[in-house]
Amino acid sequence: MLTNKEEFKQVFQKRLVALHGTEVQEATTQEIYKTLGSLVREYISENWINTNASYKKSGVKQVYYFSLEFLLGRLMGSNLLNLDIYNVCKEGLLELGIDLDDIEEAEPDAGLGNGGLGRLAACFLDSLASLELPGHGCGIRYKYGLFEQKIINGYQVELPDNWLKEGNVWEIRKSDKAVEVKFGGYVTTEQVDGRLSFLHHNYEKVLAVPYDMPVVGYKNEVVNTLRLWSAETIIGNFDAYSISTHDQRKIIEYKRSTEAITEFLYPDDSHIEGRTLRLKQQYFLVSAGIQSILHNHKKHHHDVYSLPENVAIHVNDTHPVLAVPELMRILLDDELLSWDDAWEIMTKTISYTNHTTLAEALETWPVDLMRSLLPRVFMIIEEINRRFCQQVWADNPGNWELLRSVEIIRDGVVRMANLAIVGSYSVNGVAQVHTEIIKKREMKHFYQYFPEKFNNKTNGITHRRWLLRANPLLANVITELIGSDWIKNPTELQQLSKYVKDASFQEQIRSIKHNNKLNLAKIISKECGLTVDVGSIFDVQIKRLHAYKRQVLNVLHIMDLYNRLKEDPTIDMPPRTFIFGAKAAPSYHFAKKVIKLINTVASIINNDKYINDKLKVVFLENYRVSMAEVIIPATDISEQISTASKEASGTGNMKFMMNGAITLGTLDGANIEIEEAVGDDNIFIFGLTPNEVLNYHQVGGYSSWDMYNTHPRIRKVMEQLITGEVAQQAGDFKDIYDSLLIDNDEYFVLKDFIPYVDAQLKAGQAYMNQNKWTQMAIENIAQSGKFSSDRTIKEYASEIWRIR
Ligand SMILES: *Cc1c(COP(=O)(O)O)cnc(C)c1O
Repeated sequence: MLTNKEEFKQVFQKRLVALHGTEVQEATTQEIYKTLGSLVREYISENWINTNASYKKSGVKQVYYFSLEFLLGRLMGSNLLNLDIYNVCKEGLLELGIDLDDIEEAEPDAGLGNGGLGRLAACFLDSLASLELPGHGCGIRYKYGLFEQKIINGYQVELPDNWLKEGNVWEIRKSDKAVEVKFGGYVTTEQVDGRLSFLHHNYEKVLAVPYDMPVVGYKNEVVNTLRLWSAETIIGNFDAYSISTHDQRKIIEYKRSTEAITEFLYPDDSHIEGRTLRLKQQYFLVSAGIQSILHNHKKHHHDVYSLPENVAIHVNDTHPVLAVPELMRILLDDELLSWDDAWEIMTKTISYTNHTTLAEALETWPVDLMRSLLPRVFMIIEEINRRFCQQVWADNPGNWELLRSVEIIRDGVVRMANLAIVGSYSVNGVAQVHTEIIKKREMKHFYQYFPEKFNNKTNGITHRRWLLRANPLLANVITELIGSDWIKNPTELQQLSKYVKDASFQEQIRSIKHNNKLNLAKIISKECGLTVDVGSIFDVQIKRLHAYKRQVLNVLHIMDLYNRLKEDPTIDMPPRTFIFGAKAAPSYHFAKKVIKLINTVASIINNDKYINDKLKVVFLENYRVSMAEVIIPATDISEQISTASKEASGTGNMKFMMNGAITLGTLDGANIEIEEAVGDDNIFIFGLTPNEVLNYHQVGGYSSWDMYNTHPRIRKVMEQLITGEVAQQAGDFKDIYDSLLIDNDEYFVLKDFIPYVDAQLKAGQAYMNQNKWTQMAIENIAQSGKFSSDRTIKEYASEIWRIR
């Protein structure tokens, strides 16, 4: 139906009339988008049904990837691509006078995530389906995704992201698969048939309704499922005949508080907000997801003892780690298993990924909150803790230090990472250096106790979205040169290494970059009213705004560069366009000040005629997946400048590399593995090493005042933060100034400043030799196959989940 252009045109026009009562010439973009979506979803459904039937028939082990975030972005383009009907639809629509690019633009991003962690989950789903692996997502259908960012007068303003306003063509509501989730109440015990049973009373019931979204594999007829849960009221809770005004008010309140559970995504990245509603979200997801998995398991297998052979449950960070006590609860209270049997099953089923060692991101929940919201689950956590501590003490009598560090409940809080490690059979970090830090430092006691649980799985990105779809020009010349095997097997990109010196390939690479830069320049002009020089270096930092990612270091360098240009406008440097995109958590005061600083510096520099347009600074508002897809292919320099040891992996770094941008970065996260892959000559590395940072943390010895006093250029930019033009209103950037000097610069910005400036200088000089630069770009593309999430998922599948 969609594989033949003429047929496609016919069914398209018919469907447009059926759905919207209109003809092509009169239809709005939204109507055309929805019509195409409806056809594509229909086209998907046969394979979806077949995939499910084949999993059922073969009884093959299934993986469920639990995550509070799935940052999917747009799905039309990647679905058309994976279904191999992109060209038919593109050409068919063109003959009807429609540009498919415009139609893709009509789709709102599914922004159900904050940043890297949520995008990783989305890349993993794409790889699972494309590798024909039986793996599914389990998440929350937030009514509002990550806020929409507007910049007003240089400041971030947050607007609700009403992404479902026009409906969602990709989802199917499955009311018959709804389950109930219980909150609050109290628990009593009772002897029933010689067994202690736990009875839960007076709880509030919430209905969890699943919405399924298809996850389409690349040209392989596989369609897996992303199941997103939505909270609804259970109308049966009320007796329709006895509704007084008082009851009506209670009903309205019940409806409001129930639906609030899945109303919005918490906008903190690498930081936890200890709100009750967030804990409710976590339990809601986990309870609904596990009930539905067990229900399905029991339909096809006699008992729950075989669960670990048929199901793997993976928790993405600690956010869904209540899966541990929830699975125990169901096995104990509903399936009536003994503790030991339940524990055996549970610990063979659940595995966990750690995403951070930042203290402010390690989840803890107050015991009182947990007990009142989830009384039975809390009892189980206490019992897990009691038994575990007893075991540790028996194995290591007298070792208080060990006991203190591994306890799950301590100082009135539940430590979720500890619960995750104790409850799962596998704990993985997301890049080599991150895993080493977990093993040797942050979780060293656990590592000594359970060495066999710990392993590394370096993150990856789907090359289908981030190269094939986002940069079709580049994908095409690669295929012309080395054939199309790299699409199924991305390490084949290494063949490009042979062509680093090939003059005509180099020329193609340059001309594609130029084209992509023109494209981005158009968007910058449209969105910011700013003309940028496509001959300049596009130097890009796009990622969440966070102190450890050090956007401040980037801005201070720009201020310094501007100062130097003012002193000597003739200095020989290639012109530069600095591009930023970043959302700050609405309550993260410091991060919001940094956004204001970037915009202030931008307006000073962009309005200064005397620097001969050698510098431009752009802040693109509302950074998101669909924007990343346009910016990354147009980038020359990829800024990956986090404080060493703080960025667990990074995945933005991989997307840039794959599109031929050169990394300018610290020895942090996956940057280290990128350096190993491309070699020292094809990356610009600077700054403190992870060990140097960790040693400073341990033994001290750093003073940012020393930096300030020794380096006049540092002093100058620091002073500019609090005086004169940059400061504008007095004290505007005093918080940033204070954090760098008064609070001794927790993230070593001033320590790394001079090395960063030097690395920038080197990068600028390298760019002036276009021949050499292009060779570097090609080598980066050639080595990027390792960072495909296909490689990552194959490792998870064989080493953690044991699925085929
Ligand atoms: C890849 C991606 C990220 C993660 O970027 P990092 O540089 O690794 O922090 C965040 N947001 C979006 C929209 C992304 O596509």
